[in-house]
Amino acid sequence: MKLSFPYMGPTIVYKKLFELLGHDVVMPPKPNKEIIDLGVKYSPEFACFPFKVITGIYLKLMEKDVDTLVTSGGHGPCRAGYYGEVHKKILKDLGYDEVEIIVIDSPRDDYRYFYEIVKKLKGSSSWLQVARTIKIVYELTKALDEVEKQIEVLRAYNENGVINRIWLDAQEEFYQIKSARDIEKTRNKYLAKLNKFKDSIPAEEDRYRIGIIGEIYVVLEQSINNQIEEKVNYFGFEVERSQYLTDWIRENAFPFTGKELEEIEKKGEEFIEIEIGGHARGNIGHAINFKERGFDGIIHLKPFGCLPELVSQSVIDDLSEKYEIPVLTISIDEQTADANVLTRVEAFLDMIKEKDMREVM
Ligand code: SF4
Repeated sequence: MKLSFPYMGPTIVYKKLFELLGHDVVMPPKPNKEIIDLGVKYSPEFACFPFKVITGIYLKLMEKDVDTLVTSGGHGPCRAGYYGEVHKKILKDLGYDEVEIIVIDSPRDDYRYFYEIVKKLKGSSSWLQVARTIKIVYELTKALDEVEKQIEVLRAYNENGVINRIWLDAQEEFYQIKSARDIEKTRNKYLAKLNKFKDSIPAEEDRYRIGIIGEIYVVLEQSINNQIEEKVNYFGFEVERSQYLTDWIRENAFPFTGKELEEIEKKGEEFIEIEIGGHARGNIGHAINFKERGFDGIIHLKPFGCLPELVSQSVIDDLSEKYEIPVLTISIDEQTADANVLTRVEAFLDMIKEKDMREVM
């Protein structure tokens, strides 16, 4: 099997997972203009934007003779559930009919199917090796998320380049790791490095925080969300996302471990009563949770063609008014220009600071 997967967030984690299971892994390319254009060209016009980006990534991977693509499914009425089948058809129409697409759905949806998929992906590894691999990859993801959360705070008060360098080095070193013990050592090493910048954090009353919510792919993947977190940090605001990869793993692979996440997401029922797919209801819950934790504003990322996020956008004005928290919705697609995002983010953050000063006076 020459295997690959879509590029999303801390992609080294998926690479590590499949390498430890003994597969020949090809690292997918990071989305860029060429990949996005390719995906847009060969995807249905009204497909949601993440679908188009992933089409582009798959087509680039075909140049490297990848024969197996592993991806996640979706739950609820959202298009992610059809990604596998439609991508297969697109690849087949373009002559890549030998490629297999393996879709990992949550065990919550179908235990038997989940078991069969894990059995297929484990190859010749023993079940003990599989358990060890899952533990290493989960601990690795947790450590990466923990370091990244510090980065998202400290970058607001320090030069982006300096903090980004530490983040890149950390990812590189985490990727070399072979055992759970090394993960803890590396985690402590990078948290200690970041700790040296802690004095730059101002007093509590002078800190500004923005919560980022939205569809999982555009929230996690910096290369298609116009590096929104860095932009917010650049203007002296801390950021925190509604989703980190650890949450996704807990939600999809260990469905009984995410109790506190479930409670946050349940708050969303106030505005979206039924499950409408994607993370729409959960996002509303996270927005309320950010407000309750004292955040100053919310940035909502909505990919073009995403019905769940279109619905959440429709209730966001009510949420913003009731909970008195400003929300900026940014629609993301192949036309989204960096300068436009920068200007809108700057104006939004200025407005938050000005409003805050008026309240003080
Ligand atoms: S949540 Fe939205 S963008 Fe994501 S797969 Fe579903 S419809 Fe597409």
